[in-house]
Amino acid sequence: MKKTWKLDDILPIGQFGNLYREIENDLEKMRKYVGELKPDISKEKFKEILEFSEEEEEKMARLGGLPGLMEAVNQKDAEAKLLKSKVENLALRWSEVGIKMSLWIKGKRKPKLDDKNAKRIFGVITDLEYGLKRSRLLAKYSLPEHEENIIVNKDVNGMGVLEELREMISAEMEYEIEIDGKKKLIKTQSELLALVYDPRDEVRRVAYQALLLKQKENLPKFFAIYQAVIKDWNYEMKLRGYKSAIAVRNLANDIPDEAVEELLGSCSKNRGIFQEYFIWKAKELGKEKLERSDVYAPIVKKEKKYTIEETKELVLGSLSQFSDKFYKFGKELIEGQQIDWMPKTDKRSGAFCATISPKIKPYIMLNFTGKQRDVSTLAHEAGHGIHSMYAAGHYPSTQNASLPLAETASTLAEMILFEEILLREKDGEIRKAMLSDKMADAYATVCRQNYFILFEKEAHKKVPQGLRAEDLSDLYFKNLKDQFGESVLVSPNFRYEWSYISHIFASPFYCYAYNFGELLSLGLYARYKKDPKIWRGRIERILEVGGSKNPNEMLRSVGIDIRRPGFFQESFDIIAGWQKQLTKI
Ligand SMILES: [Zn+2]
Repeated sequence: MKKTWKLDDILPIGQFGNLYREIENDLEKMRKYVGELKPDISKEKFKEILEFSEEEEEKMARLGGLPGLMEAVNQKDAEAKLLKSKVENLALRWSEVGIKMSLWIKGKRKPKLDDKNAKRIFGVITDLEYGLKRSRLLAKYSLPEHEENIIVNKDVNGMGVLEELREMISAEMEYEIEIDGKKKLIKTQSELLALVYDPRDEVRRVAYQALLLKQKENLPKFFAIYQAVIKDWNYEMKLRGYKSAIAVRNLANDIPDEAVEELLGSCSKNRGIFQEYFIWKAKELGKEKLERSDVYAPIVKKEKKYTIEETKELVLGSLSQFSDKFYKFGKELIEGQQIDWMPKTDKRSGAFCATISPKIKPYIMLNFTGKQRDVSTLAHEAGHGIHSMYAAGHYPSTQNASLPLAETASTLAEMILFEEILLREKDGEIRKAMLSDKMADAYATVCRQNYFILFEKEAHKKVPQGLRAEDLSDLYFKNLKDQFGESVLVSPNFRYEWSYISHIFASPFYCYAYNFGELLSLGLYARYKKDPKIWRGRIERILEVGGSKNPNEMLRSVGIDIRRPGFFQESFDIIAGWQKQLTKI
């Protein structure tokens, strides 16, 4: 069995140059098309242009996907980096033309498209109608063409470079730690962070100390960058006329502000569930109080190991429990050559699933070490892949589900697997360990992410008024206090933790994707468990829609209203149920 993925389906590397030139030539054709955009354009012509633009999107996705995946498994791959920067340049040239088309669709470019004609032509391709209507609705936030172009360039050459710089600063850091009197040099952050799951107290504590010390030493740099991120975000927010800093993200996600506020409130209100877990965990570890560095501590020293074969079998087995299609798609992914399994030097840490286009089966990157966690990671990522395969009948721009629904299949696959293994496991100690890990994971995806967002909201309000790095760290520390209450001892160095959270720099307010997705998916899963027959079909329908419909309306059509106060409570009840089981064992 091959343990690496085969990227030829995306593009054999020898053909990169050809495809690049092909797209370059198509650029001319696209310019001509844009010149033909006028209010009385025929439906046929408009359809032809849309189709052409989708085709180009597919080509660009392949061109960029190849070096992106190459770099993921070898971050020092110089060739991949070169190809990537070529793609970036080409993408900038495309966006100049793309902006013209999108402004015309929004009715903001001459000859102006009026509402009546927009209505006449937007339905030519049903699949793309929602996107077209939506961009027209968002037209009030766009700026004139010249300014839009300046912003794109500023983002790539300004903010984008700042972000690269931040990554370089982090990547250059090396950490000196001492365990059992032995000094050790750790060269990457991901290696260091792997130690926070170590069974030994000392190791976890030392790892966090090393991390936070480096962050503190470099705080002025991170603060300068973060200030720039916030000021830039807020400047553009005002320029475009958004209501608030977070509203920019909400609109992009097409989630109503009220639903996001409901989510944030609900997560804060339910922090007690996790605090209860931390109090339980302290007892389990024989401590009076849990320290912050114990949050991810495994509670059992013996661990079950799985081979790749066992992992495949387990995951496919649980997929087949949901539906035949789940199994069929899962098998194509897991038994094909879509997965890069093993950890390697210079490979990216973590795991992901990449969907390139409807025509190409998704790819999955893992760092498989045979742990229980790795088995659920495969189920999770395969779930993402399966989701994409359900939606493969769409155009490239409508295949991917919008944010609130993006975690539906992944969470589902993970949950079925989890319950299956839990049911089979007879050893009480191992079951306890599994549930404990599940609680720690839920804390990380739900509660922790929520508090990042709350921190960002404050930071975006206060930084523009003028703050010192230490003031911002104070704000963060207060946020931690609120999150953990009296249940966890947080050492003062954690005040600098904010400075290593990539998302708050790279995509402000992104983090609620995690708690939103997880809670919504748990809600769907709970319904499926109660009534598998009805909900299997409904969930499959949600998956098939991809990103071609408004997520809110899509959910309402299956009887779910994310704006309803208390909607997220049902998902918290599942999490509270795990904690209850834990206390019982
Ligand atoms: Zn996911």
